[in-house]
Amino acid sequence: MMKSYVVSILETKMLTHDVIQIRTEKPVGYSFEPGQATDLAIYNKAWQQEKRPFTFTGTPDDAYLEFIIKIYAARHGVTDQLRRVHPGDLLLIGEPWGAIQYNGKGLFIAGGAGITPFISIFRQLAKQDVLAGNRLVFANKTSEDIILEAELDRLLGRNVVHILSNEMGGRYKAGFVTAALIRENISDKQDRFYLCGPPPMMTGVLGALVAMGIDEKAVTIEI
Ligand SMILES: Cc1cc2nc3c(=O)[nH]c(=O)nc-3n(C[C@H](O)[C@H](O)[C@H](O)COP(=O)(O)OP(=O)(O)OC[C@H]3O[C@@H](n4cnc5c(N)ncnc54)[C@H](O)[C@@H]3O)c2cc1C
Repeated sequence: MMKSYVVSILETKMLTHDVIQIRTEKPVGYSFEPGQATDLAIYNKAWQQEKRPFTFTGTPDDAYLEFIIKIYAARHGVTDQLRRVHPGDLLLIGEPWGAIQYNGKGLFIAGGAGITPFISIFRQLAKQDVLAGNRLVFANKTSEDIILEAELDRLLGRNVVHILSNEMGGRYKAGFVTAALIRENISDKQDRFYLCGPPPMMTGVLGALVAMGIDEKAVTIEI
C-alpha cells in the first residue's frame, strides 16, 4: 500500500481569480523530483476519501511543499473545497509519482494549470543556474488567467511567449498554439518538447509536432 502523510497547511494565497497556491509542512525525509505529482485529499471526515492528483510546484530542497491548484467551483468537488482551506487545516498526501521530468533543454508548451510541473522544473533549473536555453509557450484564455506571470517572465526573460485564446492585443499573442508558432520557437539545438495542458490542446499540439516530422520520442507529455 502507498504510504500517506498528514501535513498542516502553512499558508494560502490566490494567484489568479480561480487559482490558489497552498504551502504545507514537508514530512521529514519526504522527497520528490521536479515534475512529479501526488494524490492529495483534505483530511477531514467528509473529504479524506476524495484523493485528486496535484503537482509539486516547489523545489525539492524547499522546507515546505507547494501546490498550485485551479479551482473548479461548479464541480462541487475537491478543488472547490480547497478554496476554503486555511493555515492549520490538514491535508493527506501520498508518495510522489508522475511522468514528467526534465531530460534536457527544449520547448515547453503549457495550457492553463498545465504549467504546474514546469514551474517546479524551471525553479529548480534556475537554482542550479542552468535554465538558459529553455523556452516556454504558455497558452491561456485571458491575461487574468496567467499563473505566476511575473515570475515566469523574470525566470525566462525573452524565452517566454504568452498566447491568449480569448483576448486580443497587449504584449500577448492571440489565438491557439499552431505549428507556425512552434516553428518560431524552435532553435537548432533544441531537441526536446514538454507538453502539459487540457486534453484538447494536447491533442492539437501533438498533432502539429507529428505533422512537423518531430519524433514522438522527443516529446515528454502528461495530460
Ligand atoms: C498527474 C496530474 C497532476 C495534476 N496536477 C495539477 C496541478 O498541479 N494543479 C491543478 O490545478 N490541477 C492538477 N491536475 C488536475 C486535477 O487533478 C483536477 O483538476 C482535480 O482532480 C479536479 O478535482 P475536483 O474534485 O475539483 O473535480 P472533479 O473530480 O474533476 O469533478 C467533480 C465532479 O464534477 C463533475 N465534472 C467533472 N468534470 C467536469 C467538467 N469538465 N465540467 C463539468 N463538470 C465536471 C463530475 O460529476 C465529477 O464527479 C493534475 C492532474 C493529473 C492527472
